[in-house]
Amino acid sequence: MYFPSWLSQLCRGLSRPIGRTTQPTWGSFSRSLALSSQRRIPEFSSFIARTNTCGELRSSHLGQEVTLCGWIQYRRQNIFLVLRDFHGLVQVVIPQDESAASVKKILCEAPLESVVQVSGTVISRPPGQENPKMPTGEIEIKVKTAELLNSCKRLPFEIKDFVKKTEALRLQYRYLDLRSFQMQYNLRLRSQVVMKMREYLCNLHGFVDIETPTLFKRTPGGAKEFLVPSREPGKFYSLPQSPQQFKQLLMVGGLDRYFQVARCYRDEGSRPDRQPEFTQIDIEMSFVDQTGIRSLIEGLLQYSWPSDKNPLVVPFPSMTFAEALATYGTDKPDTRFGMKIVDISNAFRNTEVRFLQDALSKPQGTVKAMCVREGAEVLPVFLKAKENWNSPVAKFILEKQRLELIRLMEIQEDDVVLLTAGEHKKACSLLGKLRLACADLLEMKGMVLRDPAQFSFLWVVDFPLFLPKEENPMELESAHHPFTAPHPGDIHLLYTEPEKVRSQHYDLVLNGTEIGGGSIRIHDAELQHYILATLLKEDVKLLSHLLQALDYGAPPHGGIALGLDRLMCLVTGAPSIRDVIAFPKSFRGHDLMSNAPDSVPPQELKPYHIQVSWPADSEAERAH
Ligand code: ASP
Repeated sequence: MYFPSWLSQLCRGLSRPIGRTTQPTWGSFSRSLALSSQRRIPEFSSFIARTNTCGELRSSHLGQEVTLCGWIQYRRQNIFLVLRDFHGLVQVVIPQDESAASVKKILCEAPLESVVQVSGTVISRPPGQENPKMPTGEIEIKVKTAELLNSCKRLPFEIKDFVKKTEALRLQYRYLDLRSFQMQYNLRLRSQVVMKMREYLCNLHGFVDIETPTLFKRTPGGAKEFLVPSREPGKFYSLPQSPQQFKQLLMVGGLDRYFQVARCYRDEGSRPDRQPEFTQIDIEMSFVDQTGIRSLIEGLLQYSWPSDKNPLVVPFPSMTFAEALATYGTDKPDTRFGMKIVDISNAFRNTEVRFLQDALSKPQGTVKAMCVREGAEVLPVFLKAKENWNSPVAKFILEKQRLELIRLMEIQEDDVVLLTAGEHKKACSLLGKLRLACADLLEMKGMVLRDPAQFSFLWVVDFPLFLPKEENPMELESAHHPFTAPHPGDIHLLYTEPEKVRSQHYDLVLNGTEIGGGSIRIHDAELQHYILATLLKEDVKLLSHLLQALDYGAPPHGGIALGLDRLMCLVTGAPSIRDVIAFPKSFRGHDLMSNAPDSVPPQELKPYHIQVSWPADSEAERAH
């Protein structure tokens, strides 16, 4: 039998939207445990020196002799201590009688955040002194013995969630930052979700959890990889950007249904929702099609979804890449709000507005518009739906066009219309960016467009198989990765117009963030060779093992990877993925606590036959 585990119950007390500004408290954490009385609660105190957690004590424990271990959160007039552990807070009465002078001394002298062990009896608080805001507020501990386990020096910041600290300071002292309620909540919820995912995959659907190497070799195409030197001159390992090749090879090996909570590495510049090392829920299956993968992921997320959030409704809606681009200007639309892009080219075919005329005369030229409801109060106005349109181009817009625009865009009083003209893709992505910028502006003014408690999942499908390379648009690169199978209806185009081939690649988007992606793979060695060598101009020697494997009875297969950090960031409403990772790197990829990456003395580089060639501007820095 499956018991929804303690944390989801524990978190029920936090069920108000955990938006970006909501700060759950120790009280709510602890209080919610009380709700879980009929559930199976893990043994928090087995094998260790305490009998109970601080947060679990209630009137039902009255008279019990307990031993607690925790950190000193507050002290009040040398009469009370508030002791904290991961589970909550409890009040401890400091004994005042002569015979307990040594206990009093320990409890009064230990600085805040020192760690102590106390033993005593659970007693009721005197009438009128109960604290209804504190889940343990009806009781207190009458201490008999106390031991200072370790004293705390002066802290760089107070361990209180409401005390603001810079992220750099939090990362420098991450082990202290982890004591905060918010970090405890995020990491425990993450562990909970992963546990349920494992249950769903292994126990309910027969997946096999397999670890794949993290010392590997360079994979052509895709993201930049980190190199690891080896003792063989000039030879390097690469840290894999994903277990892609291994998971496909596992299918050739007959493992059939693989998954892994996989650490992946990408040497990409800093971006707010990226980390150089990150975790994926990596999945591969044999004999599967897109529908199978989508249903699996919908079931997986539904099963592992925290019970304090609204249950997920499946199946998730889906949209083609072309539609996503045309309507939202991006391949990862935030579908929590409208403000869709509308093609108004036809209404302006005979326009006198010069820049619209120019755009429409070009191949792929379009005029697009987006209506910002009630935007007039907030935005620097371009076209405003009032009688007198407030725009430098208004006088060139014919009455007929104006009416057509109002009809197409359903424009109302106080709406703002943003209009752009140009090549389809460029015009759409420009409006897509403006759409998000407008949403930010409107929300700053107090409108709610994107409810953080709402979770809008969306499948984006039918991506192109190839995109023109940014640096050289005459050459192609894979839109996903080179192992993605072409859409069965477009295979013939591979040999004539490869840029028109759609792929069997699908992305999962949540509230405008890509949280997963995958594809049905090429399992035919010849086709894989053609795509790698002829279309992508990659060095096939690097992948000879994979090509060879495909020739030995490789089953049809496909898979997906979910970005666990991003998913948990959205689920918890954390402002950054760093808030759901215990020891993340800074924005610039540094570990601010240990100062990694760090320099290595030249003699330690010798076995690797490596020498640092210092850039000119770092000479001065090095001399310091
Ligand atoms: N390996 C891919 C990625 O990391 C996911 C997949 O195709 O399964 O994006």
